[in-house]
Amino acid sequence: MSYTFSEFQCPLTTSIQVGNKTISNRRWIEVSNSKIKVDLAPLPGLHTESLEESLEDFKAETFNTPSALFVKECFEIFTSTQETQVESNDLFYIDLNLDPSKVAKDLSSSIYKIKIGRNKLAEESIWLKEFINSVPEGIKLRLDGNRSFSLDSLNKYLHGIDFKKVQYLEEPLQNVMEWTSLERFNELDLAIDESINRRRELDFAKYIVAKPTFNISLKDTLKELALENQEVIISNSFDPPNNIKILKMIAAEGEHICGLDTLKYFCLEN
Ligand SMILES: [Mg+2]
Repeated sequence: MSYTFSEFQCPLTTSIQVGNKTISNRRWIEVSNSKIKVDLAPLPGLHTESLEESLEDFKAETFNTPSALFVKECFEIFTSTQETQVESNDLFYIDLNLDPSKVAKDLSSSIYKIKIGRNKLAEESIWLKEFINSVPEGIKLRLDGNRSFSLDSLNKYLHGIDFKKVQYLEEPLQNVMEWTSLERFNELDLAIDESINRRRELDFAKYIVAKPTFNISLKDTLKELALENQEVIISNSFDPPNNIKILKMIAAEGEHICGLDTLKYFCLEN
């Protein structure tokens, strides 16, 4: 099989913080097999491989990196891709300088994914409490903690927060095994992301956040969608357009609203 490789990059509409990296520009390599195009797109701060290493891995056909494995699997599974419309959650970052009740009243989507634990926890908890209380009825929230909390700090953070509008809390604890020790764990559903490889053992988690370009292979994602086990949310790692198109096709096979609205951060030319 012969492939053509084209490198792309574009600025982001706003800088994003991923792990210990601040990213203001997204680079990727489009790989075409003349039938479909898929993007090699490791995200700095999340993937351990660089874009160059991912390309090398793909060309050497070793597929040790998740970004190269995803491209290979797409070529195996799909012979053509199509535009698929699916509903996505809207990614949202907390800004403590803004009035939480005003921000809440201005919401226009039906479901939001909110990154938590990125500010001073005590202040953020107060902000979030007021925000959630002002969120209009009918809007659902997914809170993503990215393992920023100890058990003690999470207990304090969640104190007094109304969970009625919260669909799930995504992997907040440094040690996921402490989930069932959380004071309010039976009032909330857990989604796992960073610990997805331990999903069988973590049977107290209702949801898994599957990112086929990063934390789980595409084939395993399709298996999880077919199994009546944990609920699957298809998500991504700030992937470029070809990958989002493919991931939307996969998300359309699932039952849950996906997390694929990140192209809004790309300043694409057309
Ligand atoms: Mg997450």
